[in-house]
Amino acid sequence: MKAFIQTYGCQMNEHDSQRMMAVLASVGYEMTADIHEASLILVNTCSVRHNPENKVYSFLGTLHPLKRDNPNLIVGVAGCVAQQAGGAILKRNADVDMVFGPDQFFRLPQMIEAVRGGERVVRTDWAPREPKTQNFIPDQWLEAGHVENRKAYIAITKGCDNFCSFCIVPYTRGREISRRPDNILREAQALIDKGAREIWLLGQNVNSYNADGYGFHELLEAMAQLPLSRLRFTSPHPRDWNNALSDLMAAQSVICNQLHLPLQSGSDRVLELMNRRHGIRDYLEKVAYAKSVNPAIEISTDLIVGFPTETEEDFACTLDVLDQVRYSQVFSFMYSPRPGTRAEKLDDDVPRDVKEERLQQLIALQNRINQEQLENYLGTTQELLIDGAHPRKDHTVSGRTDGFRPVSVTDPALGIGDLVDVRITGYHGHWLEGERLYPLTSSLEKEELSKKKPSSATSSLEKEELSKKKSSSATVRSTIPFGQLGKHRG
Ligand code: SF4
Repeated sequence: MKAFIQTYGCQMNEHDSQRMMAVLASVGYEMTADIHEASLILVNTCSVRHNPENKVYSFLGTLHPLKRDNPNLIVGVAGCVAQQAGGAILKRNADVDMVFGPDQFFRLPQMIEAVRGGERVVRTDWAPREPKTQNFIPDQWLEAGHVENRKAYIAITKGCDNFCSFCIVPYTRGREISRRPDNILREAQALIDKGAREIWLLGQNVNSYNADGYGFHELLEAMAQLPLSRLRFTSPHPRDWNNALSDLMAAQSVICNQLHLPLQSGSDRVLELMNRRHGIRDYLEKVAYAKSVNPAIEISTDLIVGFPTETEEDFACTLDVLDQVRYSQVFSFMYSPRPGTRAEKLDDDVPRDVKEERLQQLIALQNRINQEQLENYLGTTQELLIDGAHPRKDHTVSGRTDGFRPVSVTDPALGIGDLVDVRITGYHGHWLEGERLYPLTSSLEKEELSKKKPSSATSSLEKEELSKKKSSSATVRSTIPFGQLGKHRG
């Protein structure tokens, strides 16, 4: 039996799809990349914006010929659209056999059995949200995590309590709960044993992690002691970010110089309407501090243009923040109301052509900033974790810098999982181009080296030395882009 999963949306959805793969494997399914040979097709959905939701329905439409030719084919819809629309999806598309929300995927075997028995299944009930600290990954799945290209994700929280007025996530993923640290560390060790060298900690609001008083700072510190090459996290909320976390990033070399700090708008007035519960001034102060202790840090963000009532002055404030922060990457979107959110009740009064014009201005400014920063990379030395073949170039691999910038290297000696130093020789679009600096250090040797990286700084002098070391690892002062960070972040 073969299964195919189509995933839309953020890293949390990717992670959920990986969990579903493990559950399906336990009942005899193999994954396939060829949808035509699948006897089970799952669509893991995202409803954060209008477009991804439309894509889901058009994808489901393309399944009709497959279902017509194979009536035993099972089609399931999972994720946020499933949670929100529930049984309406079954009414809208007769080919769909089961619809289930993000809390339900460990029950896939039972749902599949019910479909085989002739039922059309809807499971959108919530798992309990009390107590606030609970291990929402069942024990039997804790060590069944997925490692791909030496990278792995760990969900440390589930849901969100913030209720930003434009956002559907608290309604599709429920209120926030946090896993116990020992449970997370056990999962991390299992992933490392399977070959993970880079781990991402995930949460809708990852830095509000709180396991009975044990916070995100403590968890990051504990994770930094593990034998990993790289530790990343997404997405922190600016309100919950603090200078101690910036200090920790500067001190722990295993924590990458990458901070995705969603801003959404550069106007205090609009931020208030968005219920973001922080202001521009404190945001900029936190960013300035993060850069001061870790000059190599690369900061990216999310922005919405054309939120209800946004004026030219409000938008000018957003451009101003771009100029000040000089983000590595900006994920920018035109506002579209999401059903069921508080902002849906506001008059969507910014005309579409104005939204488009503002979006173009924002992209043009960010492109200019980006070009300047790419220039600054020329001639620098960057450490890459090679993570795959280049999507468009033959005989070329791609990797990410510590700050998550994509780099292409044409070098047949390199393979997935290699940690290698390259000299940046050029750039094309958003991609940097590099060449290997010296005979490749084997993955094993690099691993040994990375274990020797200082993992904690106990004195201020040591911290200073480590911070200098981090700064010199990337000579660019304020950095940039991007990569596929995911499409929704708090
Ligand atoms: S935007 Fe992020 S922080 Fe705000 S409600 Fe949505 S998931 Fe939560």
